[in-house]
This record gives sequence, structure tokens and C-alpha cells, in this order.
Amino acid sequence: METVLQIPKYNLSEEQEKNLILREYRALLRALKTKLKPGDRKLIRNAFEIAAEAHKSMRRKSGEPYILHPLAVARICVEEIGLGVRSTICALLHDTVEDTDISLEDVEREFGSEIARIVDGLTKISNVIDVNASQQAENFKKILLTLTDDPRVILIKLSDRLHNMRTLDSMKREKQLKISSETVYIYAPLAHRMGLYNIKTEMEDLAMKYMEPETYKEIAKKLAETKRERTRYINEFIKPLKDKLEKTGFNFEIYGRPKSIHSIWNKMRKKAVDFEEVYDLFAIRVLLDSPPEKEKEECWKVYSLITDEYTPSPERLRDWLSNPKSNGYEALHTTVMGPQGKWVEVQIRTKRMNEIAEKGLAAHWKYKEGTADESRFDKWFQQIREVISNQETDTIDFLQDFKTSFLAEEIYVYTPKGDVKMLPVGSTALDFAFSIHSAIGSKCIGAKVNHKLVPISHKLRSGDQIEIITSNKQKPSEDWLGFVVTAKARSKIKDSLKEDKRTIADEGKYTLQRKMEAIGAAYSQGNIEELVSFYKLNSSLDLFYQIAIKNIDLKELKEFQVLGDRLELPKPIKHPHEPKGDNFTSSSLSKKDAELIIFGESSDRIVYNLANCCKPIPGDDVFGFVTTGKGLTIHRTNCPNAAKLLANYGHRVVKTKWAKNKEISFLTGLKIIGMDDVGVIHKITNLISGELKINIAALTVEAKEGIFQGNIKLYVHDKEELEILGQKLKELPGIESVERYDAEAV
Ligand code: MN
Repeated sequence: METVLQIPKYNLSEEQEKNLILREYRALLRALKTKLKPGDRKLIRNAFEIAAEAHKSMRRKSGEPYILHPLAVARICVEEIGLGVRSTICALLHDTVEDTDISLEDVEREFGSEIARIVDGLTKISNVIDVNASQQAENFKKILLTLTDDPRVILIKLSDRLHNMRTLDSMKREKQLKISSETVYIYAPLAHRMGLYNIKTEMEDLAMKYMEPETYKEIAKKLAETKRERTRYINEFIKPLKDKLEKTGFNFEIYGRPKSIHSIWNKMRKKAVDFEEVYDLFAIRVLLDSPPEKEKEECWKVYSLITDEYTPSPERLRDWLSNPKSNGYEALHTTVMGPQGKWVEVQIRTKRMNEIAEKGLAAHWKYKEGTADESRFDKWFQQIREVISNQETDTIDFLQDFKTSFLAEEIYVYTPKGDVKMLPVGSTALDFAFSIHSAIGSKCIGAKVNHKLVPISHKLRSGDQIEIITSNKQKPSEDWLGFVVTAKARSKIKDSLKEDKRTIADEGKYTLQRKMEAIGAAYSQGNIEELVSFYKLNSSLDLFYQIAIKNIDLKELKEFQVLGDRLELPKPIKHPHEPKGDNFTSSSLSKKDAELIIFGESSDRIVYNLANCCKPIPGDDVFGFVTTGKGLTIHRTNCPNAAKLLANYGHRVVKTKWAKNKEISFLTGLKIIGMDDVGVIHKITNLISGELKINIAALTVEAKEGIFQGNIKLYVHDKEELEILGQKLKELPGIESVERYDAEAV
């Protein structure tokens, strides 16, 4: 519902607007050309006219006529995903039932039940932005449910999201953040899982552009600056290969393509290196036009030719020809040593594989007849359906589980008999045990991985062969939840813990009953509810359990008044069981300590805390998060938890900005790495406290084999000051890198 009625900075005459709309419509028809059968043109025209009429008075935030949005979504469906006529009609109509007077019955009458069903699916999963967290999660759950009904719903939804991301510029900052986070949290992984690599990459890049604008611009700039040099290198690399390939008579293309900004940034973060040190800024791709029966053979031949010319790294060979990824991806990847001692990644695939890599599921359908893995997606949908149908847990948990179980990359492991099992990356021996059978999981005490004994928490790797060891005395415990990543294992462990909890709670129930009788209060539903709410618990089960494990001391019952047989709340006594609002403890800076402007009603200052997970300092890009019982917690927008918070609890996010304040300083940390040189520490401290007059709170230095690493905790006023310091430190002789440290490190 991204509509407003006024028209900001947009001035086309009515005539020009009409022409623009018609031009877009014709472009859509052109894109569909090869797929049109007799009668289709009329159907599409009809859908277009209905949508145009229904959205007639609506405009997007940018001021554009609204109909340009469904037209653009339809074109993405056709051009970038490869969907056909029916999906085009649905895409044109996707916002009508939600936002206009058109009803589902109207759609069904005009276009039949198949199209009405898809439009219904798209309507159910509209972008509900200002709803609470569980509604939001519920919304995602619906997306996943419709996915298993008709995958076209999700493919159109992804196109819709992609177009919204492409046109995010005209939205308000907090909406940009919210929509971007949601996109990286769920839509990009879904696109990846559906095999839509291009769409996934573009989504991630766009989201980063809004969430990390500075870094994004910096990397983009550096990529542009180094382009010429890179092109020269790529040509040099390709030349001998081209000659060889031509001699073999293969029908091929070979070219270099840059990696996405987001993936470069990921590398920089993961390996803690600068842009200049990321070796794979690009990959070389060889595209073969092979007949189906020769695909594998020819790919390996190309591999052999390439590795005759350049030495491959044995660890970096990825054979997705024999074992395609579960999203259908097939290719052969290798990394070889190119000219000037640089590692270069080479991807070898056929045209068919390339189309699957770009258009995912839709292309997969096109080719699926006659291939062995016809049911790849069906199997996946089946698994999702299973998990969704026996889900009674919290939807937010569900979403997290879903992400780790179904959207993660996968590994292949083997049973002792040699059967293959696919598990998400990060799976442990315990996950494997539960994947065989829940009874085996529950009794698991360890495993033999490749004949070596390992604990249940042992992380598995592709190719491992696992034998599970069980004992009848074993049963799941709370800490097992930390050892598993699959939804199945998690839900089975939770079930079992709940069962245990009930047994324990029974004791607490009995204790409570006696105590209440002793003080003359009735053991009644009303009195129990009074206690549950006093201790801020969720259920009577929790109350009994807390009593049983002695977390609640029943001596406190004396503080209650008993009127008749009813318990009355005591005068305020301390609450020993304050519920935790979110999972982050906050440092205690109150409103008088720092200036922060909270947008919304007014710029009144209110109580807030700085999140411990990302330690914001003034100048950082931040947002406020409303925490039950603790006011506002301020997080950096690039906080590791930000995406999850923004995506799931958008309604609790408040826009905030720092005010200038030079009196208050904030604790932060710098990690400095350099050559261990006499006097280097002195130079550093001299610069910080002598020259820049910044207070150092703590300093630890470790030196090893000529390299030192210094961790400095210091008080700065804002980000600018920190940046200047970082810059000056880097200029000192012998300093290799200076980095702000995140999270709990301070
Ligand atoms: Mn839309």
C-alpha cells in the first residue's frame, strides 16, 4: 500500500503519463511474445485494463501512477524469472484485491479459479508493515504456506519485493530500513532457495545500499576505480584458455564478471580484510553449449584444459555436477593460480545450467522432464509442509527454525550403509540422529564420524559418514537446543523438555497447594491467576515449575493479604522475576547522560539504553527499539541483531538520530595490529592521550613472532572523533590495521 495522494516532485502532463503507461504495457507484451497463444493477448489486455482502472486514482510515493508498479512486477516475472501468461495476469492484478474495490469474486469471474487462487495467495501475504511481531511472523508463515500450494505465488511475490526495493528511494528512512531488513532476512534467502541467484544478489545489494550506505558507496567507488586494471587482468587470464578451447571445437563463451558489492563486503567482514585484500572481486565463467548427454563430460574436459594452464587449489574444487545443490544449482567451480600470483575463481557450466542458476525454479520446470531429480523441489515442499503442519510453537521461533533448516546451504552426509542425507550447513551429529528418527535422536549419547568418536555437538561436514551411538538412559536436556540447527530436532527436543517440565511442575503444584491452605487461601483458579500475573509468568505451568525448581520462594506468600479465601496483591515488593524484554542487556546511560533525538511525536528526550550487542556511539547510524519495561534500546543499523529486530518487530522500531554533544563520552574499542617495534606502544598512547586528548580506559597488548595486537578501550565523543583517531593511527609507521570492535568484545 505504498500510496499517497499528493504528487511530490513529479510533473508529467496527463498525456505524457498515458504514453508512459502504454509504453510500459507494450514492453511487457514484447517480453511475452514467444509465449503468447491465441486469445492470450486479449486476456492480458483485460487484466491490464482492470488493474489500470482500479488503481486509476492511486499514486506511488514517487508520484508515479500506481499502475506502473504492477506493470513492472509483471515484467520482472517474465524477463527475469521466465514466468508465462497466467503469472503475468496475476502480477498485473496482485495489488487490486488488497487496495481497490476489485474483489476476489470479480477476478474469478473474469479469469477463472486458478488465477483467483494465486491472487488470493498474493493478497494474504501483502506487506503488512505496522503490525506486531507475531502477526509479522504469522505473515511470513503464510508466505511459506502459499509457497507449497503454488510456487508461482512466491515467485510473483519476489518480483513485487524486488520492484519495491528498486524504487525504495522515495520512501521514508525508517521504512527503507524496515523493508531492507525484511528483504535480507527472508526474501533474499527465499530467492536463493528458489535458485534465483540474480534476484537474490540484487536484493542484497539494494538492501545494503540502504542499511550500510557509506560502506556501499565506498566499495562501489573502489570497484569503479579498479575496473580498468581488472579488465586488463581478466583478458590476460582468458587469452590462453580461449585459444585452447577454440582448438577443441567447443561451442563456448568465456568472460569475467564482478562479484556483487554485498558479497565483497561479506568477505571483508568474514576475513577482516580491506577491499584491496579481497582476492576474488570477480569470477571467470565458461559457458558451454553442450548436448544434454555430454554436459558433464565436457565440463570436466574444460576443467582439465584450464588446470593444464593454471594450477588449481585442491581445497577449492566444488563439484555440483554430480551433486547439485538442493536449489537445483549445477556447475563446476575451481580456484586456480592466475598470472601475478593471484587466485582466480572459475565457474564452468552449460547454458542449461546457467538458465537454472538465473531463473531457478521456473527454468527447472522447463527442463525437468526426463531428468533424474524431477522431484527436487517437490521433496523440499513436502518437508516444509511437514514442519509447518506439526508446528504449535511460537511463530517467531518457527521463522528462525525455518531459516536455519530450509534456507541455509546444505551438506551431504552418509549413513553407515552409504545412504545420502542432506542437512543444512552447521548441522551436528545430534541433528543427524534426529533426522534418522526422533527416538534415535532422543537417546543419542555420541557418534562415530568417519570411525572417530565425537560428542553429540560435533559439527558435520560434507562427505562425513556418521554412526550414532545411543543409550536407553539418555534423554534430551535444555542445552541440547544449543547443539542443533534443524527444525525437526529442535521441535522434538522442545516437546521432550515440555514433558519433563510437566512432571517437575506437578511437585510444585503440590507444594503450592499445601502452602496456600496453610495461610488460609483457597487453591482456586482465581488465586493461581493472581500469582501468575504477580510473578509475571505466562502460565500456571510456569508457576508450578518455578516453585518446583525453587526459583520462586513461597515465603513471599506471607506478604499477600488473604481476604476471605482470596489472595490480594501485597504492597509493592521487589519482583524477583522481571521478564526480559529482549535478549540484550543494556548499559545504563539515562537521558541526562547523552543527547539523542527520538523522532515521532516530538523531539523530547526520553529514557534510553545503548545496546550491548553493538555499542553505538554518537554519529553512528542508529535506530531505537522499544523494549518492554526498559524503554528504548539504541542499536546501530548494522548491528548483527538489527535485521532480525527490524524484520520481526518493525512496529517497535523508533527512528532516532544523535544530537551534537561534546561533554559526554562513550566507551568503545579499537583493535590495532602492526609490527612489533620498539616504542610502537608509546607512539600509540602518545597519539591517543597526548595529541588527541582522548581517555584510554584499558589497553592490552599481545605480541607474537614480530606481530603485535593491541586492544584499546577508550572514551570518545562521537563517531567522527573515532574516525579521525583511526585515520591517524593508520598513518603511524608499522601499523597494519585499525578496526573498531563490535559486540561483546568491549
Ligand atoms: Mn505490490
